[in-house]
Amino acid sequence: EYKGMSKERMMEIRRQNCNPMTMKVTYYKKPVFIHQGYMQWLWDVDGRRYLDLFAGVATVSVGHCHPRLTATLEQQLKRLWHTTNIYVHPPLHEYCEKLASYLPDPLKVIYLTNSGSEANDLAMLMARLHTGNFDIITFRGSYHGGSQQTMGLTSNSSYKYPIATSSGCTHTMCPDVYRGPWGGSHCRDSPVQSTRKCGCSQGHCMASEQYIGQLKETFATSVPSRIAAFFAEPIQGMGGAVQYPKNYLKEAYKLVRERGGICIADEVQTGFGRTGTHFWGFQGYGVMPDMVTMAKGIGNGFPIGAVVTTPEIAASFAKASHFNTFGGSPVACAVASSVLDVIREDGTQQNALHVGTYLMTELAKLRDKYEIIGDVRGKGLQIGVEMVKDKVSRDPLSPEAMTEIFEDVKDMGVLIGKGGLYGQTFRIQPPMCITKEDVDFFLAVFNKAIHSYMERK
Ligand code: PMP
Repeated sequence: EYKGMSKERMMEIRRQNCNPMTMKVTYYKKPVFIHQGYMQWLWDVDGRRYLDLFAGVATVSVGHCHPRLTATLEQQLKRLWHTTNIYVHPPLHEYCEKLASYLPDPLKVIYLTNSGSEANDLAMLMARLHTGNFDIITFRGSYHGGSQQTMGLTSNSSYKYPIATSSGCTHTMCPDVYRGPWGGSHCRDSPVQSTRKCGCSQGHCMASEQYIGQLKETFATSVPSRIAAFFAEPIQGMGGAVQYPKNYLKEAYKLVRERGGICIADEVQTGFGRTGTHFWGFQGYGVMPDMVTMAKGIGNGFPIGAVVTTPEIAASFAKASHFNTFGGSPVACAVASSVLDVIREDGTQQNALHVGTYLMTELAKLRDKYEIIGDVRGKGLQIGVEMVKDKVSRDPLSPEAMTEIFEDVKDMGVLIGKGGLYGQTFRIQPPMCITKEDVDFFLAVFNKAIHSYMERK
C-alpha cells in the first residue's frame, strides 16, 4: 500500500502541472492510481489488484517488472548509464547484432531512437532522401506518432492540431473489411472470421481488389506520379485492431514501388511476437518492407525505438550526420537485448498465439450472443472488439455506452483499452505473459459488464 501523496492532491497536480490527456484529464471517469506492477498485474495505491490487458498501450511486452529484465537493468545501471554512440560501447553492438538477426535480409541497418514518433520521423526523412520524392501515403484511421511531422502521417482527428502538419501526407481508404464498404467472412487472416458475408470465393478476394482500386484512385487524384513512401501498421493499433484483406498489402507494395516509393511497416504495436503467428506483423501478409519502425514492446516499457532498413537506403542517408543523444543508450540496449532473450526463453510469441487464439474464439461466442458486439478481430494478442448499436446498422456504440461498460470492467478488476475512429472498439493488447485463467476471468467480467448494460438499456 502506498502511503505518499493523496489522490486528491495528485488530481490537483494533474490538472495544474501535467500534460492533460487529450481533452479528458484521465482515461477513466473514476481514475485508477497505479502504484506497482508485476507481470500481467497492476496494483493501485490502495493495494487493489487489476489484470492489465492494455499493457500501457501495448508496450509492456513480456510483463511488468519482469525479474530478468530488472536484473539486467540493475547490472547495467551499476556499470554505465550513458555515453553517446560517438564512442563504441558493447551493449549497442551486442544489441544491434541480435536485433538484426530477427529481421530478414536485407533489413540489417539499425538506427536507435527513444520513441515511436522519433522512429517514424526518421523513417519519413530517410524515405524522402533516398527516393528524392516527397509524398507519403498512409491509411485513414492510422496512428504513427504525435510529433509535428508524424502528425501528418496519423489520420485521426483526435490527435491532430490545426497547424500545417500534413504537407506531403495523403491518407488512402483503410481496407477495413468490417466498417468499410467491401469485405466479409474470409477476407482476413484471423482465428475468427467476420460474420459479414462477401462476394469472395476460393481464395479470390474481391474486397482486396476494391480497396486496391481506392489506392489507385489516390495515386490518380492526390499525389504526383512519384512518391516517397507508403506506411502501414500491419494491424492498426489506435485504429482498433483493423486488419487488411489478404493480398492487399502485397499489391499495394507493388504499386508503391512502381511509383518510386519505399514500403514501411510500422511495427510499433505489432512487433516482437504480438501477432502470435510471426515475430513481425508484416510477415503475416507475406510482404517484405524496405524499412521497419518499432518502439513500445521493444523495451517492455523502457524508452527505446528503432528504424531498421537496407544498406542501400542507409547509404543515401549517410551524406550528413544523424545524431541522437539518447538513441542507443547502454541502459536501453541492455534492456532491449534482454527483452529478446525473454521472448525466446519464456515462449512469449507462442503464448500470444495460444492464449490470443483462445481469447478470440471465446469472444466470438460473445459476439454471437450480444447484439452490440459487431466484430471480433485481430491475431495473437492484438485484439479488437467492435461495439455497435446493432448488427444491421453497424453504427458505433455511443461514447456514453462505451464508457459505462469500460468503467464497469475496470471496477471488476480488468483494464482494457479503447480505440477506433469513433472510440467504438475495445482493445485487448496485454503483456504477452497472460494465461488462459486470466482470459477466463476477463471473459466472465466482460460478459457481466455487457449483460448488465443490456439490462439497464
Ligand atoms: N506508431 C504506432 C503504431 C503507435 O501506436 C504509436 C503510439 N501509440 C506510435 C507510432 C508513436 O509512438 P510514441 O508514442 O512512442 O511516439
